[in-house]
Amino acid sequence: MTAALKPPLMIAPAQVIRGQGIIAQSSSLIQRLGQRPLIVGGDRTLKIAQPFLQPALTELNWETGSYQTDCSEAALKHLHRAVVSHSADLIIGVGGGKALDAAKLLAHQANLPIVTIPTSAATCAAWTALSNIYSDQGAFRYDVSLPRCPDLLLLDYDLVATAPPRTLIAGIGDALAKWYEASVSSGSSDQTLMIGAVQQARVLRDILFQKSAAALQETGGSDWQEVVDATILMAGVIGGMGGAQCRTVAAHAVHNGLTQLPASHDSLHGEKVAYGILVQLRLEEMGPGNALAATARQQLLRFYATLGLPKTLADLGLGEIALSQLQQAAVVSCQAGSDIHRLPFQVCPEQLLAAMVSTTAPGQRRAATPTPASVEASA
Ligand SMILES: [Zn+2]
Repeated sequence: MTAALKPPLMIAPAQVIRGQGIIAQSSSLIQRLGQRPLIVGGDRTLKIAQPFLQPALTELNWETGSYQTDCSEAALKHLHRAVVSHSADLIIGVGGGKALDAAKLLAHQANLPIVTIPTSAATCAAWTALSNIYSDQGAFRYDVSLPRCPDLLLLDYDLVATAPPRTLIAGIGDALAKWYEASVSSGSSDQTLMIGAVQQARVLRDILFQKSAAALQETGGSDWQEVVDATILMAGVIGGMGGAQCRTVAAHAVHNGLTQLPASHDSLHGEKVAYGILVQLRLEEMGPGNALAATARQQLLRFYATLGLPKTLADLGLGEIALSQLQQAAVVSCQAGSDIHRLPFQVCPEQLLAAMVSTTAPGQRRAATPTPASVEASA
């Protein structure tokens, strides 16, 4: 009898090079993968990254392809034409989550190698074998699992340091979600790699608690580099080790619902996810009456206040939004197949709405004195 084949592991990029000014020294690594790269990014980011990329591209025949407004099906079609007209043999993604998601999916569809160059620490998209697809209007549509992680990830701290500090704060929010979501979706798993992923998510959360404030005080400094490694690399490792089963839960489902509202597009992915963590904890409090979730929410509210992460809809610029629009977002978050249903209890849009408007509610009296152990076990 043959044993059932387990899903392949897509844990990490084949090569990860990091350091200050390392793109300039990476031309031979890039040339090993191709001679005619199509460089995929947003117009603004490509301009900022140009001086960093130039020295690495001198011997290559390269062309740029803009993903325009979003990582959408239309943008991918447009990029496909650019691949064909340039006879590209390599894709280089340069930018934040949307640019890198577009580049990774394009490379997969065109069967070409892929290099990712993050220009901010806002997500772990440079690492993962996953692309999120949005509508041209920026509403989340669906995600696509890719068969492998990138061939080469170039993390140049000098380039990432050019991004606004707000992007790193958003990346901290997105990376924090790994613990609050993985511990719910996979916390009781008996699979070795899943246990590893969940425990790393907890360690990642603790590193962020300890170093984020110092990191934000000195862009480019040593704490800053460690937190950048945390949001881009370690968050990616956790996603890779945990794989498809170690999925997101309510925090990302709330994000996905909010993206349906055009007014939410001024806030970053990680900002919406950070708010979504509070909503998830609030659901756990209000549903099964989880006192540990209440404690964890109060702990996060204090942490968010020190960094400037959004705690409420108003902080996301959605304070004046019509109730009907919020309901629409809640319905999308709760639709069949949404990761919100990985919570161990049922959630309907009405309950979600109640949680969304009460993320800063005071904690229950009986949960007012947390012990280190309860905080540890929370969420
Ligand atoms: Zn995310």
